[in-house]
Amino acid sequence: MEKKTETFKAEIAEMLNLVVNSLYSKKEIFLRELVSNASDAIDRAKFLALTDSSIAAENPEWAVKIAFDKENKTLTISDNGIGMNLEELENNLGTIARSGTKKFREMLKEKGGADLPELIGQFGVGFYSAFMVANKVRVETMKRGTDQAFAWESDLSGVYVLSDGSRDFPGTSITLYLNDDQLEYLDVYRLKDLISKYSDFITYPVTIHNQNPPKDEKSEDREKRLEDEAKAVNTMVALWKRPKSEVKDSEYEEFYRHLAHDWEGPFETIPFSGEGQVEFKALLFLPKRADMNLYMPGQKHGLSLYVRNVFISDDVDMLLPSWLRFVKGVVDSSDLPLNVSREMLQDDAIIRKIKSAVTSKLLNVFEDIRKKDPARYAEFYAKFGMVMKEGVYSDYANSERIKKLLLFATARGEDSRKVSFADYVAAMPASQKDIYYAVGRNENDARKLPQLEAALSRGIDVLLFCDPIDEYIADSLGEFEGHKFVDVGSGNVSFGTEEEVKAEKEAGEKQAELLKPLIDSLKNTLKERVADVRISTRLKDSPCCLVAAEGAMSPSMVRMMRAMQQDVPEQKRVLELNASHRLVEKLGKLTGEELEKSATLLYDTALIAEGSLVSDPARFAKLVTELMLGNA
Ligand code: ADP
Repeated sequence: MEKKTETFKAEIAEMLNLVVNSLYSKKEIFLRELVSNASDAIDRAKFLALTDSSIAAENPEWAVKIAFDKENKTLTISDNGIGMNLEELENNLGTIARSGTKKFREMLKEKGGADLPELIGQFGVGFYSAFMVANKVRVETMKRGTDQAFAWESDLSGVYVLSDGSRDFPGTSITLYLNDDQLEYLDVYRLKDLISKYSDFITYPVTIHNQNPPKDEKSEDREKRLEDEAKAVNTMVALWKRPKSEVKDSEYEEFYRHLAHDWEGPFETIPFSGEGQVEFKALLFLPKRADMNLYMPGQKHGLSLYVRNVFISDDVDMLLPSWLRFVKGVVDSSDLPLNVSREMLQDDAIIRKIKSAVTSKLLNVFEDIRKKDPARYAEFYAKFGMVMKEGVYSDYANSERIKKLLLFATARGEDSRKVSFADYVAAMPASQKDIYYAVGRNENDARKLPQLEAALSRGIDVLLFCDPIDEYIADSLGEFEGHKFVDVGSGNVSFGTEEEVKAEKEAGEKQAELLKPLIDSLKNTLKERVADVRISTRLKDSPCCLVAAEGAMSPSMVRMMRAMQQDVPEQKRVLELNASHRLVEKLGKLTGEELEKSATLLYDTALIAEGSLVSDPARFAKLVTELMLGNA
């Protein structure tokens, strides 16, 4: 091919600029990133060898080689993995084809580059970290199954050059032309240290070579050197195969970083093995933070699968139910055949058994953390509670266990204290039968909903459902230990003992009788907007509130359905009046236009009180102005 000079896409140029100028104290992590990429590339080639007999016949000695050249100030990381063709070279190293890089850019905008170094890697910009120590990077590569070699080179001038390459066997070599202040990486001991520190668990041998030894090297020195260079500097034992007691926390941590592309260590490390029906080893991690992709379709959401030490895939979502998609890790099974395909995994009894064992183990871990250290559990829950809630309706087999792990703020509780359903039930007054919840946009607003007044005045607490998904799962919650879930903002609710409810009902009927003229004229005036007007049992201090009619959808449900492009007809609600409020008494005396205006205002203030928008703000403003003038 002819030499082709291409301009980096703006995003990459911007990112490179930041990478280079980052004052990251740990520039050394570039080696971890490049060795990690090399190992991934070999994983893929090895997997291909399972079905491609020509690779199998060649039987390559899979290896990662690091070569330093003191004279030319270069460091080269080579692998004999999958390699890249021209298109991949361009897509992977020159454009923002990968969503990780796109996300990275968005994050940069948000954070203004403040935490930049930590973000490297997290978003799969690992390769570019080479530019933290080098002013020029050259990639030589040949894709397995082809015989064409290509090269990619960039010196940070905003462009990269593609040309024919000189490799004569498949794989990739990445040569870094080191900056003058980064020559420490041309030292065998420094390199060895870095490999032990960051890449010891890589399952292929990593060897270090002096590419340009002194011309006058003595023959015995040369022999000794070559002997040393043939030895792997990493121990190569898969971490999940080693007994937990023999693995250092820092080793788990580095492995997690490699696996999850995370800059932080894990929140929890969970090594375990399945015995009995299926035999497997697993090493699972709970991250400290939610990935930005957690709610995006089509993102990697699964565990890495190995079959007898051979890497099969890094995204086997059949190994986890989708509500556990934030969990990272590896499963290594000796019961599966090596030639498994995705289609086979889909419907495999062994995979199903592993999935069930992994899920159960994770539930145990969550329950354990919650029991032993509630504060730590709350920290974890704040990050992943939302996605765990999906399990209530999507993982039928485990929904009872998942329910017990959920936490909610309550109307009476302090801001940060969240309770489980069990905590709530334990604190209920003896007369309370049902579990009450209120739906709001956020906890602060929900606490002030007029719909809560009567419950709170009776010493009944109310759970606050403020995640968009809460209302969605409310229907699936059914019962908890025999207690029904009841929305305080919909249908008819009554608090208190049977006698109290009865007395309340009778009083309400009497009041309704007395207020019949008002109720009728309000119904008439507001007939376009409300399904009914009635006396409330849930108000104490507020004059009125709006509640969902029995069987109707609540406003937040309507909002959510509409956001999902569903056609939802207007849901008329019920206006409830507080019969003992002075305003209601006063309204009873109004007629004609005055009553009509007050009815509109009453309805609009009920909307505002619950955080909804009024349909005609201009008219609302005009009426309020008139009212203020009238009172002046
Ligand atoms: P990530 O590894 O997180 O995807 P990188 O920026 O490190 O991000 O690498 C970008 C892509 O370039 C990789 O996804 C991979 O497809 C390709 N790549 C990088 N290094 C190698 C390599 N040594 N061999 C083959 N492909 C590689």
